[in-house]
Amino acid sequence: MGHHIPADFDTLAVRAGQVRGSEGEHAEAIYPTSSFAYASAAEAAARFAGSSPGNVYSRFTNPTVRTFEQRLAALEGGAACVATASGMAAILSTCMALLKQGDHVVCSRSVFGSTVTLLERYLTRFGISVDFVPQAEPAAWAAAMRPETRLLFAETPSNPLTEVADIRALAAIAHAGGALLAVDNCFCTPALQRPLALGADLVIHSATKYIDGQGRCLGGAVVGDAERVGKEVFAFLRTAGPTMSPFNAWVFLKGLETLRLRMRAHCDNALRVAQWLQDHPSIERVYYPGLPSHPQHALAQAQQDGFGGIVSFEVRGGQAAAWRVVDATRLISITGNLGDAKSTITHPATTTHARLSASQRVEAGIADGLLRVSVGLEAVEDLIADLARGLN
Ligand SMILES: *Cc1c(COP(=O)(O)O)cnc(C)c1O
Repeated sequence: MGHHIPADFDTLAVRAGQVRGSEGEHAEAIYPTSSFAYASAAEAAARFAGSSPGNVYSRFTNPTVRTFEQRLAALEGGAACVATASGMAAILSTCMALLKQGDHVVCSRSVFGSTVTLLERYLTRFGISVDFVPQAEPAAWAAAMRPETRLLFAETPSNPLTEVADIRALAAIAHAGGALLAVDNCFCTPALQRPLALGADLVIHSATKYIDGQGRCLGGAVVGDAERVGKEVFAFLRTAGPTMSPFNAWVFLKGLETLRLRMRAHCDNALRVAQWLQDHPSIERVYYPGLPSHPQHALAQAQQDGFGGIVSFEVRGGQAAAWRVVDATRLISITGNLGDAKSTITHPATTTHARLSASQRVEAGIADGLLRVSVGLEAVEDLIADLARGLN
């Protein structure tokens, strides 16, 4: 591990994209302005025509948002980045910009619930078809390909079962069929995984999670090449308007500066929690890519620079036993958000995955005793003590 992250990652995370203003400010400036003024009628005309570079309106571009876009593009190794109002807006913008009626999408069965709903309930209304396949079985992805397949969509590691997709294998399948591979890199962030270097065409982010890292703002981003992202996704965004606010961009910029340090600490704490859970007699099974018992442990080791901060586990005794663990916590927050300095605990079967039928949950591996912990930055001994209370 460690070989995918460029040597200057830490420098780019702190410095990339910053352009100091006329005041010489040291920290990045926030530009809360909806429009930009011109020196003359001719300059206004040239800006609107696109023949003179520069800002027009913050639905299109904004200096603080641009700094965030350039910094994240540098960290992901992409030529272009478009920042959006949320992670879901990033996925919507990608689909609206790059898909058309008659196209087919192959999507992992293990992606974020709203991503499934967006594809299944909304995009199908516009003549786009979608098939869902098991995330960790490249042969199933290959078998689902059709002549009209245009996009493959994976989220690795997945939520909540931490299934790992083989990005290189999926990129080869996509490209052999003339399609693009998009990877939702929310769980790893570029500090642990750089999908473009592994062959993916598009990287999707919910900046709401680890990029913020302290649970304050909603935001998202799409990273990729200059044509598809820099032109096509940007063209949709500036027309439709799911734009990131300058204030949120500034919070995410500061988040990027400490991202790798925080991700290392999340990984260290999560591994300790996973190892402790694995040996506990009340636990049926632990899902964490850093454990040798994880089915894609070797793959995660090869394509990631750390195993992430999300640990899921099945408590013996079903929902009642799982709820006892949740209700016994005094430190860990009972909430659905993840990627926060504060640890959080979720019972997927009755919250994030409650809309699925019982049989759909069984098929998706969401057992009644399953819990997901987003392991934060508190002292790991305190987190273990908090979980032990409900398990013992
Ligand atoms: C939260 C999340 C999203 C959606 O992001 P929002 O910022 O909440 O819109 C997408 N993908 C993954 C993996 C997520 O965890």
